[in-house]
Amino acid sequence: MSSSLPVGALRRLFRLPLKRPSRGNARAASKSEVRLSDVLTFVWRLWMGRPAQFWAMIALMTVAVVVDSLLPAASGRLVDAVSGEGASAGPAWSALWIFIGLSAVASLMRNASIRVLLPFASGNMQDLVTNAFRRIQSFSSDWHANAFAGATVRKATRGMWALDMFTDVVIIGMFPPLLVIIALAAQLGARWPLVGLFMFGAATLFIIVSVWMSAAYVGPKNQLSNEADSKLGASLADAITCNAVVKAFGAEAREERRLSDVAADWRAKARVAWRRSVDMWTVRIVFDLAIQAGLTGLVLLYWSRGQATAGDVTFAITAFFILSGYLRAVGEYIQQLQRGFNELEDVVWFDLLQPDVEDAADARAFVPARGEIVFDEVRFGYKRQKRDLYTDFSLKVSPGERVALVGPSGSGKSTFVKLLQRLYDVQGGAIRIDGQNVREVTQASLRAAIALVPQDPALFHRSLAENIAYARPDATEEDIEAAAKRARAHEFIVDLPDGYETLVGERGVKLSGGERQRIAIARAFLADAPILVLDEATSSLDSATEAEIQEAMDDLVRGRTAILIAHRLSTVRDADRILVFDGGRIVEEGTHRELMAQTDGRYRRLSLIQGAA
Ligand code: ATP
Repeated sequence: MSSSLPVGALRRLFRLPLKRPSRGNARAASKSEVRLSDVLTFVWRLWMGRPAQFWAMIALMTVAVVVDSLLPAASGRLVDAVSGEGASAGPAWSALWIFIGLSAVASLMRNASIRVLLPFASGNMQDLVTNAFRRIQSFSSDWHANAFAGATVRKATRGMWALDMFTDVVIIGMFPPLLVIIALAAQLGARWPLVGLFMFGAATLFIIVSVWMSAAYVGPKNQLSNEADSKLGASLADAITCNAVVKAFGAEAREERRLSDVAADWRAKARVAWRRSVDMWTVRIVFDLAIQAGLTGLVLLYWSRGQATAGDVTFAITAFFILSGYLRAVGEYIQQLQRGFNELEDVVWFDLLQPDVEDAADARAFVPARGEIVFDEVRFGYKRQKRDLYTDFSLKVSPGERVALVGPSGSGKSTFVKLLQRLYDVQGGAIRIDGQNVREVTQASLRAAIALVPQDPALFHRSLAENIAYARPDATEEDIEAAAKRARAHEFIVDLPDGYETLVGERGVKLSGGERQRIAIARAFLADAPILVLDEATSSLDSATEAEIQEAMDDLVRGRTAILIAHRLSTVRDADRILVFDGGRIVEEGTHRELMAQTDGRYRRLSLIQGAA
């Protein structure tokens, strides 16, 4: 669809720019870069997912509207049949039957059309939210780190309802009035060309004024109000998600004040948007009165000159009421259309954005072998970093090797793991696992071969059994229990009221840090991946628990390639190799013993400070 068509004019009205969203850069492309034609194409594509239902609905609605537009003529005929000279019962009854018959057919057709609309609209909404979720999941960790989860959720669900509204507006709200204007103007014009012209002109002018007001007067304020609404939701989500931090700092009053400011901003913007909607409604009433006066006045004029019968006057009045009913709705629908556009922009934006990391077109499934990792002259920098973090970074980790990454905060240890998992693409060089370039295999198969025990494991609000089995959904109850036993989690799980069926709270807050970590370790046991990443996996455990779990960890690590990220050097003494990171480079490497032998070494210095020697 070209944006220079009528769509171009509409685009200006709806204030949507022509620029394409920048691809491959999720943060640079903003929602404001979405074009009107993008929204229309997006909706059309969804509609055309169910073409039979769509065209059936249009056909039924067309019949309903055309039959509706014959009602004024039928009512005029009825009045003539009862009021003219020599009026008799026969023609009057048949006129009545025609009138009732037409009304019945119009209602039936409209009803049938709405019945087709129900599966059509709900199916499209289901497709929209599923597609939006797929897109959102495919965006990079960076994108997610920068987006408010609460706001993203609202955008997806709001887009779903906006599509519903958009479909209703176009198929029930806009299409029938346009058809009825043409049909009534044609019938009136056939008898009195001036009346037909007046009706057509006034109705068209009304629609133009409504579109203009909606797009330029009400729309922008609506958009501001919507943005404030999203911000309000996101602020709520942010403060509620971080409730533990708020409590820890006793900052409830501060958070309340913060939210109250955001709510006040929303209120100010919503009030302006609502007031403008009422202004638009007032203009509609003025138009309504003008059309009523003009239409009936003109026909009365013809009647006074003997050029129209009582039935003709009835025809004109009924035509006005039918037209007015349709037009009143048009004004409202145009406003809804505008709102629908604004609310759909977010999901259209999701649709247009290209994920930062994508599977290659010919990506194969990763074939796990013994777990050899090679970083070959890797260059990598985060988008907003001034300098690359890694330049010419090379490293080989042998199968089954236990490698510990240590070094100051920000030295690039976690980034090493993110690149290994291909959460980001390197800008130079290559990363190969078991001889396969991570860029050439599917992301899902690659990540399935790497089990991760993170520092602060997040748990789904699902049962513990489901949480443990997340790495292997087909795991049996016995498998889950065996993994939990090996992770030393079984004991505390069976003590819970519902055992393995206990639901853990959002983000697992009902469990202690150590318990969550044990669940994550059980997950890793079940994943049975050749590569294991332990990110400060024992940091939340007290010494007694740590000692208890260490055995389990040794068991987990056995026979796998393990990457251990550690701040506490005491936890990595047994590693086969310790890599000391600084500024994205490996500045020392060797076993604990070798590194301790370097009298001037950083590792030795750090070890002595931590008392881990
Ligand atoms: P820590 O021990 O504190 O976890 P780390 O050694 O794991 O630190 P990384 O998380 O790898 O360090 O970070 C390396 C550098 O990259 C830091 O300067 C950090 O600020 C930066 N960085 C990390 N993630 C991002 C990101 N998503 N966008 C931009 N910069 C990032």
